[in-house]
Amino acid sequence: MKKIQMVDLQGQYSNIKETIDSSIEEVLNSSAYINGPYVHQFQADLEKYLSVKHVIPCANGTDALQIAMMGLGLNQGDEVITVDFTFAATVEVIALLKLTPVLIDVEPDTFNIDIDALKKAITPKTKAIVPVHLFGLCANMDAVMDVAKKHNLFVIEDTAQAIGANYTFKDGRKQKVGTIGHVGTTSFFPSKNLGCYGDGGAIFTNDDDLAHTIRGMVNHGMYKRYYHDVVGVNSRLDSIQAAVLKTKLPLLDKYCDARRNAARYYNTAFSQNNNIITPTTKSNASPNCGEICDSCDCHVFHQYTIKIMNGKRNELHQHLLDKGIPNAIYYPVPLHAQKAYQDNRYKEDDFTTTNELIETVISLPMHTELDEEQLAFITKTINDFV
Ligand SMILES: *Cc1c(COP(=O)(O)O)cnc(C)c1O
Repeated sequence: MKKIQMVDLQGQYSNIKETIDSSIEEVLNSSAYINGPYVHQFQADLEKYLSVKHVIPCANGTDALQIAMMGLGLNQGDEVITVDFTFAATVEVIALLKLTPVLIDVEPDTFNIDIDALKKAITPKTKAIVPVHLFGLCANMDAVMDVAKKHNLFVIEDTAQAIGANYTFKDGRKQKVGTIGHVGTTSFFPSKNLGCYGDGGAIFTNDDDLAHTIRGMVNHGMYKRYYHDVVGVNSRLDSIQAAVLKTKLPLLDKYCDARRNAARYYNTAFSQNNNIITPTTKSNASPNCGEICDSCDCHVFHQYTIKIMNGKRNELHQHLLDKGIPNAIYYPVPLHAQKAYQDNRYKEDDFTTTNELIETVISLPMHTELDEEQLAFITKTINDFV
């Protein structure tokens, strides 16, 4: 059996080595290392893939979130609501811009934004909501957009873990996540579903004015060379990363399918185990989709995360490591309890779900190169132990 990896970047690269290498060589020979033709081509390809008017590439997913918030003109003291259970980047940029983060609980089954908690958190100072499509599953965007419309709030979708996922609206219409709110952001960090070979990120919007503002902001606030109209940042996608991404984008749907196949194998193998709750079922995922998530496109399984309900999660974590099966606890500490983001505004009672999730979740190997022999070994080891 091949050595099991949490994410098999080497295996994926070896299958596309020739085209990747030649695209990188082209960049090296062109010497257009920043803003070369590959950046523009990748931007256009991604606009087409997402059916969105504007893609603005930038240096990483954290910058993408920060610049999106700058572009919307949010001001010091504005409240921005986001989830307690996500990677810290989401709340980090809110705090960095001197906006006020308002962390709220998530749903126990989808791990995504809890709509009742969202409604309760809104105050006259609320300006924006940042839903995170965590682990690759679409958040409930019908409800988020309804709430935003009612209270006149911006919606910034953190799509770092879910690029390629389709959200199904109540009326049956499908739309790529990241293009539903006022602005969406993503990361091309190597282990993300569309990863480059360094850092990279992008911002998506259908709003022409916002796109224009953001295009200047990523480049020192310049709309005309050496004329600085607004305070900006230096956040660019370099041409080598764009070449890698342009080569990999046409494979993204195939990669999503490979992840869903692995998820289906896991779901089936754990279906008889009462101590394991698998990530998604028909009733609790994209509420309108009507299909089971491991066969539809609302979940792209950035992570395959189960809940261990008999209190043996930490033992399982160690047991799997002993057996050579990598695994991870995403996330071990909820954001409201992190030193940097603690605040006496928060009450533990408001975070019953995240406080439970940090004790029960475990993420299993999930990538595009998992084979049946590996999946059989992983699932048997887990079922024998739990
Ligand atoms: C990875 C990630 C980010 C940050 O992306 P970087 O490219 O690493 O800066 C932001 N939000 C979420 C949910 C992420 O998973």
